[in-house]
Amino acid sequence: MLRPNIAQELRAIVGDNWVMDTPEDCFAYSYDATPLYQSLPDGVIIPGTVEEVAAIVKVCARENIKIVSRGSGSNLSAGTVPIEGGLVVVLTRLNQILEIDQDNLTTTFQPGVITANLHREVEQLGLFYPPDPGSMNISTLGGNIAECAGGLRGLKYGVTKDYIMGLQAVLPNGEVLRTGGKSAKDVAGYDLTKLLVGSEGTLAIITEATAKLIPLPETKRTMLAMFQDLTGSAKAVSRIIAERMIPATMEFLDNATIRVVEDFARIGLPTDMGAILMIEQDGPEAVVERDIRKIAEICRKEGAVEVRVADSLEEGAKLMQARRFALSALARVRPTTILEDATVPRARLAEMVEQINAIAKKYDIQICTFGHAGDGNLHPTCMTDERDKEEIHRVEQAFEEIFLAAIKLGGTITGEHGVGMAKMNYLSLKVGDTGIEVMKALKHAIDPQNIMNPGKLFARDTRRRVVVSGGGHLNHHGHGNGCECNEHTAS
Ligand SMILES: Cc1cc2nc3c(=O)[nH]c(=O)nc-3n(C[C@H](O)[C@H](O)[C@H](O)COP(=O)(O)OP(=O)(O)OC[C@H]3O[C@@H](n4cnc5c(N)ncnc54)[C@H](O)[C@@H]3O)c2cc1C
Repeated sequence: MLRPNIAQELRAIVGDNWVMDTPEDCFAYSYDATPLYQSLPDGVIIPGTVEEVAAIVKVCARENIKIVSRGSGSNLSAGTVPIEGGLVVVLTRLNQILEIDQDNLTTTFQPGVITANLHREVEQLGLFYPPDPGSMNISTLGGNIAECAGGLRGLKYGVTKDYIMGLQAVLPNGEVLRTGGKSAKDVAGYDLTKLLVGSEGTLAIITEATAKLIPLPETKRTMLAMFQDLTGSAKAVSRIIAERMIPATMEFLDNATIRVVEDFARIGLPTDMGAILMIEQDGPEAVVERDIRKIAEICRKEGAVEVRVADSLEEGAKLMQARRFALSALARVRPTTILEDATVPRARLAEMVEQINAIAKKYDIQICTFGHAGDGNLHPTCMTDERDKEEIHRVEQAFEEIFLAAIKLGGTITGEHGVGMAKMNYLSLKVGDTGIEVMKALKHAIDPQNIMNPGKLFARDTRRRVVVSGGGHLNHHGHGNGCECNEHTAS
């Protein structure tokens, strides 16, 4: 709970209704979409203006109260779990699209806008904001920016950082910073916009953003290519790119995922196939037709047993929906679903999936893999049960091996979900000790009191992996009854 005088001061800033600190309220903000992590905050606040955000941060800085920024809580790296308690600052009331500038092709919005709502608004004007995380119907743009979210269209159009041109953000001392703007060219000093994109709430609270828009593609076409084996599908991905075609989307489902998705969505996916590629191309009609024809040919040459091209936009949307259903479908299988996002250069895709399957077998756990084949961003997803501590231990060991395998194949520990708490013990594998030191120095320069989202990104002890189990009775600030601090070596 917040100290009564602090709660009173915060209520004076935002109004009585927007500060919550009962145990029930705190419980509701103690977790996010990441399984196994949970910790109670001291209170929750929902500001309605940037001035209110700045005033809240000033109180927290003065009182040394930790701050956890939060959008929809859909992240998959435990980024909004208040592991050191403090105040959860929910940005969902800042939910206005402030401008769509059709002359400069930019849009300016507040962080609480739901991603798909921005898509709808700009598309009505024939414009396009491509980043489309699978969670776009629930995620906020602030959360997308803080995680540098990717999505299904990442291969052709890039990810969130490729579109954000400027930001307004409240710094840990309560000062308001403006970075970048609408100018397409701007090299005035360090690129603070890029620094804040992907900073996972650890440097500042984003209160406004300006993003680049592009013209909406004239049309799009969707196709499925079904392969008896994984290698054929991976070869097709490399061949398509080698033929100088960049599809808007190139998604991959392995056999285990196909079976679970078909059981859930009943859309006629062939459950006996080793892998399916879902490919979408967009652009001018003639180019789309040509590319889809050529891509279908390549898939057949690489062993596709069937290629199905959607006849209409509606049918195409239904097929792509199958991919968006993947996580929900897998989540039905067992009580706990752990989704990771190990990423490799696309040419190593087949090898990576084979290694994931071998690792799952070694640890006797169930892993389905799907993901963004075009950019090598895989989502090995484990269906497990967090109540079974022995199995969870094997799952942890398996994922550790999967991250190491991704690094060895020239990839990374996370392609789009961020580090948060879930992968903080692996960050040094990717960026090295020098990288960690530079990041820590930046963090210290901007947030010397360490009040912004503490306990994230950086391992407290690089040889120690901490797994905080949810459920049961939580101790304040984290480790509940089920808390396990497992000793694993990270290399
Ligand atoms: C079904 C499903 C599918 C998903 N698919 C994808 C996908 O395809 N691609 C992808 O990249 N991710 C995906 N995700 C993960 C998640 O949706 C993204 O990380 C998303 O960007 C989080 O947005 P959010 O509003 O829920 O942010 P939250 O989860 O609330 O917060 C995420 C992080 O951002 C920080 N934060 C939030 N708002 C602000 C702010 N205004 N200022 C500063 N920091 C802030 C938080 O502190 C936290 O560290 C998926 C998740 C689910 C559940």
